[in-house]
Amino acid sequence: MSGEISFSPNDKYNAFLTTCKKAPHGSGKLAGVAVAIKDNISTKDIETTCASKILKGYVPPYNAHVIDLLKAEGAAIVGKTNMDEFGMGTTTENSGFGPTLNPCDTTRVPGGSSGGSAAAIAGGMVTMALGSDTGGSIRCPAAFCGIVGLKPSYGRVSRYGLIAYSNSLEQIGPMGKTVADVSKLMGVIAGYDRHDSTSRDKPYNHTPNAEIKGLKIGIPQEFFGEGVNPQVADVVRKAIGRLEELGATTVPCSIPSMEYALAAYYVTCTCEASSNLARFDGVRYGPAPDWRKSWHDAYQEVRSEAFGTEVRRRIMLGTFALSSGYYGRYYSKAQVARENVRADFNRIFADVDVIAGPTMPTVAFKLKEKSDPLSMYLADILTVPANLAGIPSISVPCGTSEGMPVGLQIMGRMFEDERVVDVAYAYEQEVN
Ligand code: GLN
Repeated sequence: MSGEISFSPNDKYNAFLTTCKKAPHGSGKLAGVAVAIKDNISTKDIETTCASKILKGYVPPYNAHVIDLLKAEGAAIVGKTNMDEFGMGTTTENSGFGPTLNPCDTTRVPGGSSGGSAAAIAGGMVTMALGSDTGGSIRCPAAFCGIVGLKPSYGRVSRYGLIAYSNSLEQIGPMGKTVADVSKLMGVIAGYDRHDSTSRDKPYNHTPNAEIKGLKIGIPQEFFGEGVNPQVADVVRKAIGRLEELGATTVPCSIPSMEYALAAYYVTCTCEASSNLARFDGVRYGPAPDWRKSWHDAYQEVRSEAFGTEVRRRIMLGTFALSSGYYGRYYSKAQVARENVRADFNRIFADVDVIAGPTMPTVAFKLKEKSDPLSMYLADILTVPANLAGIPSISVPCGTSEGMPVGLQIMGRMFEDERVVDVAYAYEQEVN
């Protein structure tokens, strides 16, 4: 055991749902480092709720693979962080246990769905955290809170023990104060796990390297077009200019499939969610149903009461899209659109090394600012393409607009997580 762990649980932001009074830790690469864990990642003997009332009281009997890896390297698991219920949201306002506030401005949202993890870092409570990213949930809160977040390539980090929202899109990933923190955490969590059939034997043993001379960066016009706040676009363009000063060259490009990317994403994730969430019945934890009623009535009652509005909306959308006769109209079309996104990235990556643009089209919204679901979904337009294609993508702070942090997003070829980390590192070193 090493000395004191650095954890200050002065949680003014509702970043944590559970804090661990005694956080055991050992020796290793993360000896004594306090790590916060998003509450959809299973932690043995520590309550894990996905910020949903339906899982209130659930204490997993096993650890997610990533938790075993963290513990083997001496990390101290200090608590479970707030999130949008089951990962469904962009602001952490959809938590069943109250919203998280943005430490940069407490009248604003921290982004989501890994908002608690981002706020725990930005608020100085920890230096590292785990999040998960299905359509932007690591990168969005990283951008909104001014920290670093990496969505790894699909298959690079085991999903065993991640309570599933949309299996084909999501990855657990590292969040941190600096690119070096994120890289270090990635080194601990990446690699093959026989418990996850989609996991790949691609360990990450990398020390960030700031040398980017000769790097070719693709700049998609869609990332600076309609819907993207001009000031945000400006901050990001300047950041890309800094990368050019470091010896990178930029090439304009286009991702025409982005026109259908958001629709493809929302059909895919709601279909998968409707199936994944069917198992929650409130019997063993959550609100106990009244079993004097018929199974159907009890199941309906529990699920109407314990799931939040957004989760219910998505279960219904997904169930509808998958229902008999509609499959070809929605789900299979979404998969075609998804293939087109993949093909666009492959075409562009034949010519460039990375693709850069803003992480989010705006800075963090005010709390309760976005009330209709569609305008909320639109905020994900720049992050979902990487999930649809499975490619790695990092968000690194690159300045401010309206006094709020802006994120620079760097996407890379499949399994070239090291390269996106290097580009983010080069930028970070240049501005610091
Ligand atoms: N905002 C997106 C959604 O609501 C992304 C969420 C996520 O990545 N978990 O689905």
